[in-house]
Amino acid sequence: MNSLAPYHSFSLQSSAQSIVFIESLDQLSKIEWTNDTWILGAGTNTIFTSNYSGSVLINQLKSLTITESDTDWLIDVAAGENWHSLVEKLINEGIPGLENLALIPGSVGAAPVQNIGAYGVEISRYIESVQVYNFKSHEFVKMNNSDCNFEYRDSVFKQPENSHLLITSVQFKLPKHWLPVLEYPDLQSLPNDATAEMIMQHVIQVRKAKLPDPDEIPNAGSFFKNPVISSAQYQSLLSNFPDMPAFVLDKNKVKLAAGWLIDRAGLKPLRVGDAAVHQRQALVLINKGQASGADLLTLARNICNTVKEKYGVELEPEVRLLGENGLLAQL
Ligand code: NAP
Repeated sequence: MNSLAPYHSFSLQSSAQSIVFIESLDQLSKIEWTNDTWILGAGTNTIFTSNYSGSVLINQLKSLTITESDTDWLIDVAAGENWHSLVEKLINEGIPGLENLALIPGSVGAAPVQNIGAYGVEISRYIESVQVYNFKSHEFVKMNNSDCNFEYRDSVFKQPENSHLLITSVQFKLPKHWLPVLEYPDLQSLPNDATAEMIMQHVIQVRKAKLPDPDEIPNAGSFFKNPVISSAQYQSLLSNFPDMPAFVLDKNKVKLAAGWLIDRAGLKPLRVGDAAVHQRQALVLINKGQASGADLLTLARNICNTVKEKYGVELEPEVRLLGENGLLAQL
């Protein structure tokens, strides 16, 4: 049946034409890649909204090597390793840097794709290079940080024209001279001299309190990106919504909190079939059991339309939504 439900954390009933598990680099040259081959890690940011007509490759490559220079820790990790296990292992070995990114579900290979970020740290800060296998040229290529075009929850790997690049490993460079990043409201209760271990434990606690565990309640983390609008639009919104949180990105741009917009638009009770808004964090949509792809898409469209009507702001999915023939061009 090739069911995809166990391989994406939103767990919609869906299937693929075929599923291949990648466990060794030697397998790669034997795989026939076509335009409808989809590469998946742990499936925590991809949602299959219907049966998928192509084949799915699931990256389960494993390895970890730690070396050091005078100034940095150099970590080379295979893409199929679990992200949070890596964070924990490094902190336990006395290597700080990734503590703010604790408990993000997913694999190491997904970290550069999505440029994962939390509590003021984006992983692009620590990525030295990304090794990929190019299914068109059948070569391994090492891409430097600047080749990856990292942006807010985005990178070159998220672009459809690069779907033939399979990330095999990621090289991180973590400076030995470490400073805690404690600016986010949820971390401000920590002392200025908090250790990386303390920060990691705190982040784990906060995330567990706010976010649903995908193993218990299927979800794909933040469903939408935080929208970026002009300072002028923000100023005019403030007259109607004086307590709207916003973060200045530069003199012309402001980032809004999508979760706040959804919550304050009164959308928390919204539910379509078994697709619903999470009660403790409105930015997360959940599958209460038997949601269908159509339920989820209807829910997401309702949210976008209401947010647009109320604030004039467009929400964009952060997750990658797949239909029968590949990425959905729009919701
Ligand atoms: P929160 O603390 O309730 O804040 C809401 C939003 O405001 C966040 O999304 C964050 O944007 C922004 N924000 C807060 N303080 C900020 C500051 N000092 N400077 C700039 N922006 C600030 O957020 P939350 O929902 O509990 O999430 C906490 C962190 O975990 C956030 O960084 C969030 O992105 C991350 N997270 C990511 C996922 C995912 O699936 N990707 C899921 C849950 C949480 P940013 O999102 O840009 O940081």
